[in-house]
Amino acid sequence: MAHKSIAIDGPSGAGKSTLARQIAKELGFLYVDTGAIYRTLALAALRKGVVPSDSAGVLAVLQAITIDLRHGADGLQHMYLDGEDVTDHIRTPEVSAGASGVSAIPEVRAFLMDMQRSLAASRDVVMDGRDIGTVVLPQADLKIFLTASAEDRAQRRYEELLTRGTQVDYDTVLRDIKERDQRDSSRAAAPLCQAEDAVLVDTTGNTQEESFALLLNLIRRHFAL
Ligand code: C5P
Repeated sequence: MAHKSIAIDGPSGAGKSTLARQIAKELGFLYVDTGAIYRTLALAALRKGVVPSDSAGVLAVLQAITIDLRHGADGLQHMYLDGEDVTDHIRTPEVSAGASGVSAIPEVRAFLMDMQRSLAASRDVVMDGRDIGTVVLPQADLKIFLTASAEDRAQRRYEELLTRGTQVDYDTVLRDIKERDQRDSSRAAAPLCQAEDAVLVDTTGNTQEESFALLLNLIRRHFAL
């Protein structure tokens, strides 16, 4: 029997990764955070002093490195760059901006597509990203477009960064989110947009628990689980 797939797309900070991880755990699916793959490439480029706008430079970096994605026994996804576990190094604002830059390069997207598709072919998955329902898994069994107001998303990202011990101010986070939205939605290659057959879920004003209950309910009904 074919494996089940749930695609969760949406702008940064909509709560995709936390919710997708919780849903995957609850249902026994594999959680795949595709943004982490772009982040790992961005980190490699930054370390080599290549700016994201330098397409040829970024592609040369991509050819020269090995990116691995492995799941621990706890189901958590770890990213490896040339064998080094960089999971904790890819969450800085610098890497976020870099990931948004490198992901706009069409050859980068094409190169990383196989990795994402083969993961979905191997297990039941909940995959989150920007173009999962539209490009990576257009045949996904269920597509969800998860969004929230920019202010709500900035507030959540701000709290998350503070929890990680990163010093930031709210206005900077809000500005970064708006800039990233703009870049991700206006790029030529696989722009962020809702698939025609995706269910729109707006989590503005919801607590984490409310959004989780809402999504789980939707998924259970869809798969009759
Ligand atoms: O989801 P996350 O914030 O970790 O993604 C980092 C960046 O990677 C996003 O701003 C987006 O530009 C890019 N991305 C993408 N396609 C995906 C996942 C992430 O272009 N499927």
